Amino acid sequence: MIPDSFLRFYEAELRRFRQQGLYRALRVVEGPIGPTIGIDGRSLIQFSSNDYLGMAAHPRVRAEAGEVLARLGTGMGASRLISGNQQIHALLEQELALFKETEAALIFSSGYLTHIGTIPALVGEKDVIFSDALNHASLVDACRLSPARVEIYPHRQIDFIETRLRKKPPRSGARILIVTDGVFSMDGDLAPLPELIRLSEKTEALILVDDAHATGVLGPKGEGSARHWGLDPEGLLTMGTFSKALGALGGFISGPELLVDYLRNKARTLFYSTALPPAVCAAARCALRLLTEEPQRLRSLRENIAYLGQGLQKIGLDPAPHPVPIIPIIVGSEEKALQLSQALWDRGLFIPAIRPPTVPPKQCRLRVSVMATHTPEHLDRLLTAMKELL
Ligand SMILES: *Cc1c(COP(=O)(O)O)cnc(C)c1O
Repeated sequence: MIPDSFLRFYEAELRRFRQQGLYRALRVVEGPIGPTIGIDGRSLIQFSSNDYLGMAAHPRVRAEAGEVLARLGTGMGASRLISGNQQIHALLEQELALFKETEAALIFSSGYLTHIGTIPALVGEKDVIFSDALNHASLVDACRLSPARVEIYPHRQIDFIETRLRKKPPRSGARILIVTDGVFSMDGDLAPLPELIRLSEKTEALILVDDAHATGVLGPKGEGSARHWGLDPEGLLTMGTFSKALGALGGFISGPELLVDYLRNKARTLFYSTALPPAVCAAARCALRLLTEEPQRLRSLRENIAYLGQGLQKIGLDPAPHPVPIIPIIVGSEEKALQLSQALWDRGLFIPAIRPPTVPPKQCRLRVSVMATHTPEHLDRLLTAMKELL
């Protein structure tokens, strides 16, 4: 039995969520993920998927994953450090390190678990973490799990870090970790990586860049933030995922072998969470290969981003020109965002309202995600609807 006091509390909370426009329900999506999806028996054009390159439903990805699934089964039955590590995990890590141009890479079962395992392992009690105010929740939660002092700096304002270090110097011997999204997930803007690297050299800080939305998207072949900025990826510690532009599931750290080796020995989510299924690794390997073999996917994505950005500008929206497929349309209140989302739904377009705690209060928005596989007709449908509604 759940005690009455608990029931009353949860009931009151759910009532409050509804009143404040913060109530959430799970939708059931039918069929494969693509620029159109089925919901409630309808087919809708969606702008809400992180499967930016259309890899999740790619015939070759499906075929290769299917072959491995048939051969090796569904689950690993243990963490990688016990008996859940197969050759395919090692191959994926090798290919990843080559792609990222780093010495080594280490895969985890999700991007979230990558942060949760990595950050508390990297720094301890005496240390300091600087974290961007708009970092993804997985970074926020990972910082909370670390006993290090956490300093939140205003979004992209890295001067704050130096000022803070001067005003409140860390204890002697303390290490400094700076964590930032490479591409911010709800705004689509980029972390000032070159400046961050200069700062890290000056202050002997370590930087961890979350490239969840940069992997497969930024850089000539989708290598990520470092290549986009023309930086040498060699010494950088980057986190990335297979779950977005690569269409599969899983997260990874890429960087110097010493750090990867340390994490292999220390990251709790590697020890205490079951290894990725081999079929998922097969999908990730195939998608990685396709980044090189089918460069037209990234080209199409970039063309679609540019087309939609220009179209939105023409109707008076001003999405800052940026190279990523995340275009926020900020409308303010929960109610307004929900209304706009509903009106788009009525026109056959699926773009859910993004509300707190995912974004700050009063900054509710529609987060438009662009895919390489959107056709010009899909993009025009969105532009026409937006013109009518705004
Ligand atoms: C999605 C996301 C993650 C988490 O990755 P999963 O593989 O979905 O667990 C981490 N960071 C950012 C910025 C993300 O958008």
